[in-house]
Amino acid sequence: IEWTEGRGWHDAQLQPYAALQLDPANMTLHYAQSIFEGLKAYRQPDGSVSAFRPDANARRFRRSARRLAMPELPEETFIEACELLVRQDEAWVPEPGEESLYLRPFMFATEVGLGVRPANRYLFMLIASPAGSYFPGGVKPVSVWLSQEYVRAAPGGTGEAKCAGNYAASLVAQAEAAEQGCDQVVWLDALERRYIEEMGGMNLYFVYGSGADAKIVTPTLTGTLLPGITRASLLTLAADLGYATEEARLTVDEWREGNADGSITEVFACGTAAVITPVGEAKYAGGKWSVGDGQPGEITMRLREALLALQAGQGEDRHGWMRRLA
Ligand code: PMP
Repeated sequence: IEWTEGRGWHDAQLQPYAALQLDPANMTLHYAQSIFEGLKAYRQPDGSVSAFRPDANARRFRRSARRLAMPELPEETFIEACELLVRQDEAWVPEPGEESLYLRPFMFATEVGLGVRPANRYLFMLIASPAGSYFPGGVKPVSVWLSQEYVRAAPGGTGEAKCAGNYAASLVAQAEAAEQGCDQVVWLDALERRYIEEMGGMNLYFVYGSGADAKIVTPTLTGTLLPGITRASLLTLAADLGYATEEARLTVDEWREGNADGSITEVFACGTAAVITPVGEAKYAGGKWSVGDGQPGEITMRLREALLALQAGQGEDRHGWMRRLA
């Protein structure tokens, strides 16, 4: 779907997957006016196909557009595009299980020119790909590197938006995490490099205590981390399961000491791709420590099972999160 100044959104088209032709002076290549979303559609037990909270992705896409001085795509158009693509070839959507169809909506400037200002033409596109289970060999805790040299987002920056540049800036820290023998980077706040923000492509959760008395805590949305849809859903789902939940700021020292004295029993990350991933080990310039006994925690796995069951259409959808696409 194209957007042109003065004309708005027009010319929706469904086309076979193919390469794009880009002018070398396409403004996106130079100034990175580019945003995206990621969501999944799941085959339901009755054979239909539903997406998990596409309205929330559509809203976040509009917020990202606003931050990047881009036109806002109406939420219904975003969802209609998902429906159109899925209905085109429903056979793509794998059978139930952890498998799904990953949908990638994105928008970028198409104006040709080298002036630094918001472009006057944009293209919204949607592509999709079947996604297998994130952990085909069973759930395995990840190790994380707490980056103190690099930051993902500063106050007033684009941290809350899902824009391409945030990911470009993260690659060097992800490479550093790999050099340190870790699977993922964990970002700290820009000002003090003390507060835990989020993981590379996932939000974080800390479990205090165990059993029915457990409290589940996630870092507060300060404006510099991505408001994850899985994060928001888990605040509700955990409360449904009877756990206390809290949004709070947590420092590296509080995390390390919480694991040392046993008050923090489990840590996990959550996002569309892996749904929930246990964290087994944390490392930073000052040393490393293990999280709990390094194995997937009980509450982590309970929340994971509950969310996967909901997405697969098993059990009650109390909050109307599943939206039928086909
Ligand atoms: N943080 C970042 C930086 C991400 O890229 C993602 C993935 N979109 C998330 C968190 C998790 O967000 P969601 O639950 O909406 O997938």
